[in-house]
Amino acid sequence: MTDVSEKKHHEVELLAINQKLSIQSKELQRSNEELEQFAFIASHDLQEPLRMISSFMDQLKRKYSDRLDEKGLQYIHFATDGAKRMKQIILDLLLYSRANKQTDQNELINLNEIVSEYNQLRRKFIAEKKAAIIFDGLPSIETHRAPLTQIFHCLLVNALKYVEKNKQPRIEISDIEKENVWQFAIKDNGIGIDPQFYDKIFIIFQRLQNKKENDGNGIGLAIAKRSIEFLGGEIWVESEKDKGSTFYFTILKIKQLK
Ligand code: ADP
Repeated sequence: MTDVSEKKHHEVELLAINQKLSIQSKELQRSNEELEQFAFIASHDLQEPLRMISSFMDQLKRKYSDRLDEKGLQYIHFATDGAKRMKQIILDLLLYSRANKQTDQNELINLNEIVSEYNQLRRKFIAEKKAAIIFDGLPSIETHRAPLTQIFHCLLVNALKYVEKNKQPRIEISDIEKENVWQFAIKDNGIGIDPQFYDKIFIIFQRLQNKKENDGNGIGLAIAKRSIEFLGGEIWVESEKDKGSTFYFTILKIKQLK
């Protein structure tokens, strides 16, 4: 008797959990759709008036600059600069909203190639910084190319960027194969992150440095996190101030996604 009623009790509990999960997943889908809609509005409705501001500021400068004093010209410069930054924010938001959308099919991707492509793309920056990016025998994994590339690019650019001036960046990329996931680590010898900010850095538009010290909008890690979650993984950081940071992330093996 007790056995049966306990089983029933578990079944009822399981049903309740399932229902809760289904509500949460609908809620997530709804908020994703809202974000998509926002991205659409941002791309069309906001970009157009912004283009108008920029182009009239250009005209003002071109046609009336001889009649304006230095202060007047400086105001135009501030307005143009503000419009430029706003454009970048809109483009970043669009990128963020698309970071959990499937754009390509699964394919077998050699990660050594992804990192080599990055090295090639940023060769000037890497040479200037005399940076060493160390990786060897990374695996080939079956997944989506676009988000995977984005993840590596976001994490590598930060590892190169957040290093004391005059210090040569040294970045090590390694992997561990686990039962259901691939786990990667990107270790740098940079400025490090205070543990109280470990969560904050993954939130959109949150930065620890001010604009003067380092350019950026505070969107890279938010995009990386969204892309990683799209691939069924997680991201976290371990760091020591002034010694360096290691960003860990997992990618769910594709058979698990099916
Ligand atoms: P951005 O680089 O544009 O500011 P991110 O979202 O990529 O935006 O990073 C958010 C913040 O996290 C950065 O402003 C920086 O303060 C911190 N951060 C990211 N990566 C590192 C790193 N490898 N070492 C130290 N700090 C980092």
